[in-house]
Formats: sequence, C-alpha cells, structure tokens
Amino acid sequence: MTLRGRLAPTPTGLLHVGHARTFALAAERAGAAGLVMRIEDLDGPRCRAEFAAAALDDLRWLGLVWTEGPDVGGPHGPYRQSERTPWFLDVWRRLEAAGVIYPSPHSRRDVEAAAVAPHESAGDGEPIFPPALRPPRRERAAAPGGVAWRFRVPDGRTIEFEDAIQGLVRRTAGVDFGDFVVWRRDDLAAYELAVVADDHAMEIAEVVRGADLLTSTARQILLNEALGWPPPAFCHAPLVCDAAGQRLAKRAGGLAIRDLRAAGWSPVDVLTTEIASLVAGAGG
Ligand code: GLU
Repeated sequence: MTLRGRLAPTPTGLLHVGHARTFALAAERAGAAGLVMRIEDLDGPRCRAEFAAAALDDLRWLGLVWTEGPDVGGPHGPYRQSERTPWFLDVWRRLEAAGVIYPSPHSRRDVEAAAVAPHESAGDGEPIFPPALRPPRRERAAAPGGVAWRFRVPDGRTIEFEDAIQGLVRRTAGVDFGDFVVWRRDDLAAYELAVVADDHAMEIAEVVRGADLLTSTARQILLNEALGWPPPAFCHAPLVCDAAGQRLAKRAGGLAIRDLRAAGWSPVDVLTTEIASLVAGAGG
C-alpha cells in the first residue's frame, strides 16, 4: 500500500546525505499515491532562494519525482510556505476560537530562567515552558498582533502513536514537552502550526521525516485534535550519524549531496554508502 506523502525541505542550507535518504524513503512510500514538494521557507532571513533551488535540483538528480510542487504546480499550492500566510492565519483564528492558545511575550531566555528545573528540556532540546508563566483569563484576540503565541498542552496526558518504523511512541505533555510556540512574534506561523496546517490542506496521508521530530509529532497530534482534523500516519526514519553517533548537522562538511555529486558519487552511492566510517574523524 502507498500513502500520499510530501517532501518538506527547509532551505537554510544544502541538503546532505541524511536528507537524501529520508526523502528517498518518503518518495518510495508515497509511490503512486502522489508526493507533494513543499518548501518550508518561513524563517525569513535564514531561508534562501538558492538553497531551495539547490534542493529541487539535488533531489531530482537523486531520481525523486514529485507530483505537485513549486516547479510543477498542482491544486494544493502555493507550495512555498512563505506564500501561505493567509491560510496559517486562518488556522491561528481557529485555534484562538477553540481557546487552546494564548499570547506569550516570554523569550526563550525567560523560559529557561523560570523553569522549575532549568535543566529539563523536551527530547528535542526545547526548554519546557513553566505553567506558571501561562497568562490569566483574557479576552479573545482578533489577530496575533506582534507577540508570540503558545499552545496550552494538557499536562500529564500521554500522547501515543504507532510509527511505521519506530513502533509505539509515547510522549507525555508537561513532562516530555511543554506549551509550544504556534505563532512567532515577527508575525509568522511557527513550524508546528505551519506543518499541521499544510499537511491537512495538502491531504497528506503519511508524514515521512527524520526521527529528530518525534516529540514534534506529539505536539502536532494535539494541534490536529484541537482543530478537529484526523492526524496523518507517521514514519520517522533513523538519522544518519557519524562514527561518534552524532547526527549530521545541516553543514555536514563534505556530505552535502552537492559535494558528493561533484566528487563523482552516483545517486545509488549517495543513497547506500555506509556513512559513519567516512566521517569517523569529522567531529573530533
Ligand atoms: N522542514 C523540516 C525540516 O527540514 C521538516 C518538517 C517535517 O517534515 O515535518 O527539517
């Protein structure tokens, strides 16, 4: 069985061999059900058009074929998130109407300083937002208005999902992750809101991505629930690591698909060569 899927690169750098493998898996699992290419270029200054162009080019060189996207069109576009703000605002309004989000002027530094146990953070390194910083009752707002907004998580509730690769995954709200940002103070949708909004609008049946986003999946399941939408299925690919067991960062020197192409690797080499031994000395 194949499930309609998507590729969602963030153009803040060149794609590396880890992305190549996750995206190839996504393409394989989507098969004939269709594959959407969506450029996640919300983070204004850090995203660059040349990285988006390089991502499309590198993934095509790998042999991946998408059926909808910025370069092929399709009924669910536009396929660059920077052009989808009206839709994200609509979703922000639905969350505000449902009473599950609140304005939160606190910076990351405030959050770290106020945390009951400052060392505690979500599996993905986000500090856990202290419930004491939640605001008291307030009037509903008509617009986000230049302040960050957070989703109020149901403290103590365990979110479970069956992942196609990882099996049963559990994350507990308030323990593994806290209230998270859905709208940024620079008036852009935050990652969690944009992804849930778009996976729904683009009718994505299965989300295939790296295992670094497992905790985000629990957040996204809560957002879908608050919006009354069924969540997609999930498949989190293992991360490509170096010999020290560290996952490849965006600037994994020399392991960008670009660089491997220039060094004469074939698409099959990029998708199958064992990496850990190649980067044994890379991170020291
Ligand atoms: N755009 C995200 C990234 O490149 C992936 C988001 C997702 O797959 O949900 O890391």
